[in-house]
Amino acid sequence: MKRIFKFGSYLKEKFGVKVKKVPISIPGFTCPNIDGKVSRGGCIFCENESFSPNFQKNRITINPDTKSNPLLIRQLEALESQFYKTTPILKRVYGAEKFLVYFQSFTNTYAPFETLKKLYLRALEFPNVVGLSIGTRTDSITPQTLQFLAELKEKGWEIWVEYGIQSSNNETLERINRGHTFENVVEWVEKTHQIGLPVCGHLIFGLPGEGKKEMIQSVKDSVALGIESFKFHPLYITRHTLLALEYLKGNYRPLDRWEYLEVLEEGLKLLPEGVSVQRITAGTENLLAPEWCRNKGEQMGFLVRQLRKRGIIF
Ligand code: SF4
Repeated sequence: MKRIFKFGSYLKEKFGVKVKKVPISIPGFTCPNIDGKVSRGGCIFCENESFSPNFQKNRITINPDTKSNPLLIRQLEALESQFYKTTPILKRVYGAEKFLVYFQSFTNTYAPFETLKKLYLRALEFPNVVGLSIGTRTDSITPQTLQFLAELKEKGWEIWVEYGIQSSNNETLERINRGHTFENVVEWVEKTHQIGLPVCGHLIFGLPGEGKKEMIQSVKDSVALGIESFKFHPLYITRHTLLALEYLKGNYRPLDRWEYLEVLEEGLKLLPEGVSVQRITAGTENLLAPEWCRNKGEQMGFLVRQLRKRGIIF
């Protein structure tokens, strides 16, 4: 039997109580793969303002070159209101006593440095917060931001940087319009480690053009970088995305749940001792396909049961 080291267990061991991540979405944040700096439209599976009626058209966004951020007060208010709305639920449902503020939506280092500093520092002032987890892209973080985060860690805060890797195959990255290569991932994961920060890597199984060989290679290549924590999920087809168009034209078939299970099982077996797992699936709104991903509880139940039958306890 292999027992997967869950990120929740890592936090519990470290802080002695249940610690939960508090997901935050900052208004006005965007992504260089959407706003034109790298590309427009984003990754082919990303639901964003280029395609989706759910997103406000012409919303004001900021980027690292924004001289004076007109949204800062609104961003700080949103941070605060989301924190105070979510934490009572995490306390009640999971018994959480401490929190890691997770800057989740879009690219959370793609803003003026002064804005990032203010938001990160404000998050650390909230009650029972032990640190931050910052979701971003490897082509959108700077030495200055890494240095600032490393200083917070030196002061005793729990600080994580989460990078979307998705695949280590450059052909796949091009096919999904990722806007950067795996070499870029290697470079910035190394820089992040050199400065003393741990990394959580996100991988997607079932990307167009990939078979099991490529998916497992992505796990191997990411493990080789010494990444400390992983999130895995199957590729979802969300309405109003380029991927949805390809799916509707019959050009893309998502993994079925047995195919996903098979690659997940092999991927989990490759993780070294002490590397934690934060997620083996995820939920999404506006799901078009695959149908087996519609209900997150059912997905989890299936995966956990089947993994156990195969000798993996999650
Ligand atoms: S990096 Fe993230 S936010 Fe940016 S386009 Fe890709 S999925 Fe969307």
